[in-house]
Amino acid sequence: MASPRERLEAVETEESAGRGGCSGVEVVFSSDPAVPAPLCPHGPTLLFVKVNQGKEETRRFYACSACRDRKDCNFFQWEDEKLSEARLAAREAHNRRCQPPLSRRQCVERYLKFIELPMSKRKFCQRCQQLLLPDEWERHREHQVMGDISVAQLRRPSQLLYPLENKKANAQYLFADRSCQFLVDLLSALGFRRVLCVGTPRLHELIRLMPSGDRNSNIKSLLLDIDFRYSQFYMEDSFCHYNMFNHHFFDGKAALEVCRAFLQEDEGEGVIMVTDPPFGGLVEPLAVTFKKLIAMWKEGQSQSNSHKELPIFWIFPYFFESRICQFFPSFCMLDYQVDYDNHALYKHGKTGRKQSPVRIFTNIPPHKIILPTEEGYRFCPVCQRYVSLENQHCEHCNSCTSKDGRKWSHCFLCKKCVKPSWSHCSVCNNCALPGHTCKDPKDGCFICGELDHKRSACPNRAVRKQKQRKRTKMKMEPTKGQPMNHTSVRRKKNRRERAHQYLCS
Ligand code: SAH
Ligand code: ZN
Ligand code: ZN
Ligand code: ZN
Ligand code: ZN
Repeated sequence: MASPRERLEAVETEESAGRGGCSGVEVVFSSDPAVPAPLCPHGPTLLFVKVNQGKEETRRFYACSACRDRKDCNFFQWEDEKLSEARLAAREAHNRRCQPPLSRRQCVERYLKFIELPMSKRKFCQRCQQLLLPDEWERHREHQVMGDISVAQLRRPSQLLYPLENKKANAQYLFADRSCQFLVDLLSALGFRRVLCVGTPRLHELIRLMPSGDRNSNIKSLLLDIDFRYSQFYMEDSFCHYNMFNHHFFDGKAALEVCRAFLQEDEGEGVIMVTDPPFGGLVEPLAVTFKKLIAMWKEGQSQSNSHKELPIFWIFPYFFESRICQFFPSFCMLDYQVDYDNHALYKHGKTGRKQSPVRIFTNIPPHKIILPTEEGYRFCPVCQRYVSLENQHCEHCNSCTSKDGRKWSHCFLCKKCVKPSWSHCSVCNNCALPGHTCKDPKDGCFICGELDHKRSACPNRAVRKQKQRKRTKMKMEPTKGQPMNHTSVRRKKNRRERAHQYLCS
């Protein structure tokens, strides 16, 4: 009989098998809240169900919330499986062993020692991704070690550490300077005094780098991130080791209280949450987590403010718009294209012509958000928002309809604007890419008919079963001209993006 591990791998292999299958794994949130989920090293696991040809299988299982790659976390347990005392004890021991080698407190103490050293004694091991104290040099003698670490370098850990995409575990896509500066300027123009950075280490450091004396210099920032390497560079009140897929604080109650105090300061006035999660597609657990952070903020509100919402920037690809708005109906998508440094596909080329599919979703009224005209954005007085240069106002739809930054054209048969490369297909009675296979579900995604991904990776995937079975045709298209062939790229990336990495030493 196959071990649980092998069974899960089989599920996973099937999910990632070539196109044509319609199966996948989905998160279940309807489980009995009285039954606590078992714990893996990354906190409470999530309940999943395997979906085969659009049908949910009855046997559900728990797996890691953060790591989709079983190499990173191989937790597997059937929902109805009873474990022996011995196995439970072994699991607990394993979970303990997997925790970072140093406590949060110890990291802070090390950091304080480190900054007291003269520059000539400040070293950083690139192999171990670790600041070294003099008594540790010997152990890293054979490693590549950087010396003379300056204060400036210590204040920019995202430049010192390598992005975890290189380690093939967790895709860390760092903002390009232009986008990061845009965000900082925007946050300060909007008058925020505190920023909860969830998975945005580079934004966090740029906020903290703002020159003092500046009228904006008093913006505080708290980073929540699963990348434990960052704990070397920050005091307890500015970094918490955190899993955003299950709202788990690795350092327990003390860390949760740091976050709570941050959100509730000034009765919750002047704070915004900014998040840039891995684009793996697990929108629902993220939404559940963000609602918990919102609730935490709300607890600190006075009664008179009860109608207010916690301001949020959720940075994510545009093709997740319907999923995000399903969970947060007050959110709208801005046209601003977020650029990344280390992502070949998501950054502007030298000419600035390459388009990024990543956008900002927010509950702040879009007319308040001024996009840079020098990058080609313009204000549409009818829509009352800034839009991309090519996003033209369609008088039939009465809105600026483009989602991807290209000029869309109106189809009178579909009664809506469609991507420029689409044309109306009389067989499908829909606009589609020329050369598509008419109404042949076998070839593509079970939900949207797209050819280069499967239902499990489909951004149009609905939450509820019934919607999941309904096929909406052709919501996305793969084209050569597009900035990225998002779904096939994404399938490979899913694994990386959802995984994580600890400080290896
Ligand atoms: N653009 C951002 C980085 C986004 S990359 C910036 O430049 O600041 C995604 C970030 O989310 C990474 O920092 C990664 O470590 C973090 N992350 C990935 N999985 C996570 C999880 N399960 N919980 C919390 N943070 C996570
Ligand atoms: Zn080393
Ligand atoms: Zn139109
Ligand atoms: Zn049409
Ligand atoms: Zn699809």
